[in-house]
Amino acid sequence: MGLKLYNTLTAKKEKFIPCKKGHVCMYTCGPTVYDYAHIGNFRAYIFEDLLRRYLKYKGYSVLHVMNVTDIDDKTINGASEAGVSLNEYTQKYIEAFFEDLDALKIERAEHYPRATEHIKEMIDLIQVLLDKGIAYESDGAIYYKIEKFSAYGKLSKKDIDKNIIGARVDHDEYERDDARDFVLWKKHKDGEPSWEAPFGKGRPGWHIECSAMSMKYLGETFDIHTGGEDNIFPHHENEIAQSEGATGKQFVKYWLHCKFLLVNNEKMAKSKGNFYTLRGLLDKDYSPMAIRYLLLSHNYRQPLNFTLEGIEQAQASINRIRDFIQRVKECRLSDIGYGCCSVPIRDARKAFEDALNDDLNIAQAIVPILGLISFVNREIEAQTISQVDKEELLSFFDAIDSVLGILPDTDDTVPTEIQTLADERQKARKKKDFAKADEIREKIDSLGWVIEDTPQGARIKKK
Ligand code: AMP
Ligand code: ZN
Repeated sequence: MGLKLYNTLTAKKEKFIPCKKGHVCMYTCGPTVYDYAHIGNFRAYIFEDLLRRYLKYKGYSVLHVMNVTDIDDKTINGASEAGVSLNEYTQKYIEAFFEDLDALKIERAEHYPRATEHIKEMIDLIQVLLDKGIAYESDGAIYYKIEKFSAYGKLSKKDIDKNIIGARVDHDEYERDDARDFVLWKKHKDGEPSWEAPFGKGRPGWHIECSAMSMKYLGETFDIHTGGEDNIFPHHENEIAQSEGATGKQFVKYWLHCKFLLVNNEKMAKSKGNFYTLRGLLDKDYSPMAIRYLLLSHNYRQPLNFTLEGIEQAQASINRIRDFIQRVKECRLSDIGYGCCSVPIRDARKAFEDALNDDLNIAQAIVPILGLISFVNREIEAQTISQVDKEELLSFFDAIDSVLGILPDTDDTVPTEIQTLADERQKARKKKDFAKADEIREKIDSLGWVIEDTPQGARIKKK
């Protein structure tokens, strides 16, 4: 069964057929770097990571671009309040963003273009729209005339209200009922960064950057565009209007949007103050992998209510899988040459792929993996696992982890400092000096590792 994806544009699950066989071009709306991203944002980035990883698992080569919005009302206000240049202000949050991506094991995209480094491309695109009569000038700003693009509303399924045609909006973000001519280029204001353009000094609106940068790196028509559900209107609707208005070609074939991460059934958002940052949660000693698993393991088209208990359950699930891998590595092997696991592995692989092929049904994809773990645990007890089984199991879990990204990397090998502490703790325990042993355990914990006592001895794992 081939991959099917739910396309917001057609409101249907569709067979995925890329423009170029074996190759996928995809674009993701990235962060506005005026503050730390919250984990609602990371729900979107983790769903995109799952998509990217699964496409690669299926053998596609992926060219993925994520923009960084380093100029807009929020970044400009932030820099001016902090009394630093825009660049200095955004740099701090750009670095924090990449640190968070790494902590959550989100694979890097191929390009992270910054808005401020693509002003020329935006000016050129606006000029095309002006030349075609789709954009117009008013009071020194340039607006997109939505009346000129008859397909306006096709993504968000919005009928443009005739009454507001001709009305304008200067803000980058607005509600669905407020479809209006939107701003492409804002007139220069004192104290704001600005650039010279043939149509006047100023700075870009938010929407134009994604059209200009996606087409620069991926071409005028590309395969997949993703974002959170709040991006559908106006942002993505406006991207379609800008790009298709300028080129006359289809902009994107498949539009994918994840539902919100909620807190008490409300969208997690900066403006609501109900948000958690990744670093805030790590400070409370939650592990990044548990947060990854929580955000990853729920289907992207279902809203997900965030709770701290949810992270704890996710941690328990990860531990179960990680412990299992460890057990397979350490188990006593039977000397029977054939594998009792071959058929169960084959079935689990098929069920895993069938579920993910069905619009990334990850919740369903995990079920056969847990089933396989239960089966193999029984076989380990019965000492019927052979060398062949062991190799097949480890290679199967490697393959599925290229999609899930939850197993320890090789750089999770225990550093000498931690090993030495663990040895000291072991000595203390032998001497029945449990106070000292506990103290060392806490030290190990504070360095990001956990120590577990098992019948085979102490086991050290990254948190
Ligand atoms: P922003 O920095 O607000 O432009 O958001 C960056 C990305 O995070 C966009 O794709 C948003 O759609 C997405 N996003 C923001 N809040 C949430 C949320 N609570 N749940 C899921 N995605 C979100
Ligand atoms: Zn965008």
